[in-house]
Amino acid sequence: MRIRPHLSQHEAAEALPLVTDAAVVTDVSAMDKNRTDEVLRELRATLDAHGTDDWRRDRPATDAACEDFLADRLDAVDHVAGDAPLADYLPADDREAAVGEKVAALQGRYLQPYPSLLGITVETDDPVEFAAGQYLAVRFRDTPRVYSVASSPTRGEIEFCVRRVPGGELTSDLAVHLEAGDTVTLRGPYGDLLLEDPSSRDLVFLATGTGVAPFRSMIEYLFETGRDRFAGHERDVWLILGAGWRDQVPYHGAFRALADERANFHYVPTLSRESYLSDWDGETAYVQYVLTKYLDETALDSASLPGAFARYRESPPRGSISQRLRPDEMEVYACGLNAMVSSLVDAVETLGVPPEHTQFEGFG
Ligand SMILES: Cc1cc2nc3c(=O)[nH]c(=O)nc-3n(C[C@H](O)[C@H](O)[C@H](O)COP(=O)(O)OP(=O)(O)OC[C@H]3O[C@@H](n4cnc5c(N)ncnc54)[C@H](O)[C@@H]3O)c2cc1C
Repeated sequence: MRIRPHLSQHEAAEALPLVTDAAVVTDVSAMDKNRTDEVLRELRATLDAHGTDDWRRDRPATDAACEDFLADRLDAVDHVAGDAPLADYLPADDREAAVGEKVAALQGRYLQPYPSLLGITVETDDPVEFAAGQYLAVRFRDTPRVYSVASSPTRGEIEFCVRRVPGGELTSDLAVHLEAGDTVTLRGPYGDLLLEDPSSRDLVFLATGTGVAPFRSMIEYLFETGRDRFAGHERDVWLILGAGWRDQVPYHGAFRALADERANFHYVPTLSRESYLSDWDGETAYVQYVLTKYLDETALDSASLPGAFARYRESPPRGSISQRLRPDEMEVYACGLNAMVSSLVDAVETLGVPPEHTQFEGFG
């Protein structure tokens, strides 16, 4: 499959038509949580349960001092070498197994800067004309990057949701320096990840992380404008959204609330790491495998599916959603990092969704 090239997106962003060079930032908020204390507690408990004699020798006597000790070791991590010092405290077998994965995931979470997920709202004197799913170029302190609009075109203000890329030029600046009252330049709009013409098809949005931004805009828009109905019938609208940790799912609370309010909106978050820190008992697999679980069995020849899909078909969905999807009766929208979108689109094709009903966009 082909992902649209975005290699020169920063230059391309500067070539877009100017919307305004004085959009006023009205809000900058962390969308994630600072879970450092939780992470250190869990690391300490994991090493207490599985650590080697070296761990018992080095471990300070009290739990609090022990967590400070772990924090000191993690703060000394060489980010370039990417070393993982706490694995040294695990027996060799555990380093490669589930316990090792857990310790590595918790270390990774500890090392992520906070905030890592920003919600940014801007206002302009005149309304910005765009279609749900499109993106704008945002320039702050002379650095332009493109961001999907995460709010509906029917709203007066524009929302973005931005993941902080470690060492990233603009996102580092946004996370540290951007504040309400600042102005940014907006160019655009651009992009052809757009809703298909209304039809009886069900809509399925597949994303990881901030890849959900254009879908937040589309989902708000289609419920506001009644596009979730066609010829008097309700269409089912699905969002399967992947992330590592629960607090790093953009708009998690809003999507859950919408699912409570609208019987035809089905929200399925899938969190690969959350169970290391909480009692998360929802989905944990890749987005495409989670989708497979919700396909109508009469519409699918499970025996002909590649191995991994067939395995996931055998494990029932973990939520209470009883509706099922038919690949030939749905339109699919996929967005996220290029590699992830490629595998999603390939998977959707394997499952039998017609390519003309698959829209996608890669973030680079
Ligand atoms: C159509 C489109 C829509 C986009 N919408 C959004 C959005 O809604 N929210 C959002 O957060 N981002 C979005 N992006 C990505 C965004 O444009 C920037 O690339 C990203 O914010 C990084 O900018 P930076 O200046 O901090 O990093 P840079 O200094 O440009 O890059 C630093 C390094 O990080 C790598 N990198 C770039 N982006 C990512 C990433 N997302 N994850 C991991 N590594 C990365 C680069 O390859 C580079 O090696 C979108 C991109 C495209 C093409």
